[in-house]
Amino acid sequence: MIVGIDDTDSKTGMCTTYLCAVLVDELGCYGKVSIPRLVRLNPCIPYKTRGNGAVAFEIKLHQPGADEVVKELIKARVNELAEVHAEETNPGVVFIREERALRMPAEHLRDLQQFYELAVKEVVTLEHAFALLAELQIEHYGLKQKRGVIGALAATAFFMLQQHWPAQYDVTYELIAYRKRARWGTPRVIEPASVWQADAATYPLTWDTVDHSNKNLVLAPHSPCPVLFGVRGDRVDAIMRAYELITAEQVERETLFITNQGTDSHLITGEELEGSLSEYHSYRIEGTVASEPRPIKGGHVVFQLAIARPAEERIDCIAYEPTKQFREIVRSLRAGDELTTYGSFGSGTQNLEKIEVRAVNTEATRNPRCERCGKRMKSAGRAQGYRCKRCGTHRSSQEREIVARALNEGLYEVPPAARRHIAKPLIRLRNAGAQKIHPSR
Ligand code: ATP
Repeated sequence: MIVGIDDTDSKTGMCTTYLCAVLVDELGCYGKVSIPRLVRLNPCIPYKTRGNGAVAFEIKLHQPGADEVVKELIKARVNELAEVHAEETNPGVVFIREERALRMPAEHLRDLQQFYELAVKEVVTLEHAFALLAELQIEHYGLKQKRGVIGALAATAFFMLQQHWPAQYDVTYELIAYRKRARWGTPRVIEPASVWQADAATYPLTWDTVDHSNKNLVLAPHSPCPVLFGVRGDRVDAIMRAYELITAEQVERETLFITNQGTDSHLITGEELEGSLSEYHSYRIEGTVASEPRPIKGGHVVFQLAIARPAEERIDCIAYEPTKQFREIVRSLRAGDELTTYGSFGSGTQNLEKIEVRAVNTEATRNPRCERCGKRMKSAGRAQGYRCKRCGTHRSSQEREIVARALNEGLYEVPPAARRHIAKPLIRLRNAGAQKIHPSR
């Protein structure tokens, strides 16, 4: 049986990954439990508590008839641990029985694939999720508005897709350590020096543990949830080594997740770019810088980008204050630079997560110099060329000159402290052999 769960936490407590970790440990006596999956869905969804995560795992039961017992146990745990008193918490659980999962027709798998893609990139309605559950005869359970069935179904879909078509799904890993219950809500005790050491020993196979430029740890949340910290990376052995090196308060348990974190799965790109850019979506767009970057109140930096697809228009691109030194790259852009921008879109503005500087504009046009006195000529009026006021010399057009640029071509990203869970850290591209990347750590 494949089980998906979502929407059990609130801003003041719990975490759906913790509920999953508890179940994975508890259900071991009923069957063989898989490595759980942690999927990050559309990061722009307004209903999210934090990182819009949902979970799924598989249990291969020792006794085929134990389905009902296991399902009741899962429901009981959801009822017990979910923050149902919080208005925005609407738990949802999805169960795909083993025989159903094993004999799922290809067209139903395609339906699940489409649903997963939608949940990661688009806004899905609850009606859509219920209709698909009914069509594919998938059992579900929920509390209150049951909104969590959207994430739960997307997580089970990810589980099945990754099993059937592993080559199509980029994955990473996260080992999450959970706090003892008595310590929930109290300050976390983590020895910073040990975390820096763990990073030094395992980066770049682990990433987003520390933020070097801003000199802080980024592996622990700041909320009162059960998570002590998480170590992310591309290889389980490196994650385990980092984990062993970290000194911290005693943990209740730790669980390894296979995830879609760090994969850029949320971006709408290439062929998918059609219609117009819309709110609650994230895009990778090509364009040309159309205005000089300018600072705005709050420490943010904004510039205009002229784009041709999905429609010819100018959009604002913004690097917010928390993106810190990334703003220096953005400030050093010039009109005419060719870019590919990555980030979520809202109110006519793209919130930058990454940029690729494809070509820097090294050309500038200036009024010509007078051949006699060497001074810059002035405009002689609209479409009348340039004239030296002193000498009376005339030139018909401006001069082109090459300007030195400090900015190099390549990909730049926000620092770890400002990174979305689902955004692909550039170091993952270097691990895959890419050139011209400027990872921020
Ligand atoms: P945490 O990261 O701490 O687990 P969260 O940020 O995952 O919290 P949830 O409490 O799970 O937030 O709330 C997100 C809600 O939005 C869930 O009910 C989920 O089903 C729903 N949801 C997720 N993705 C989409 C989507 N693409 N369209 C519509 N609803 C979605």
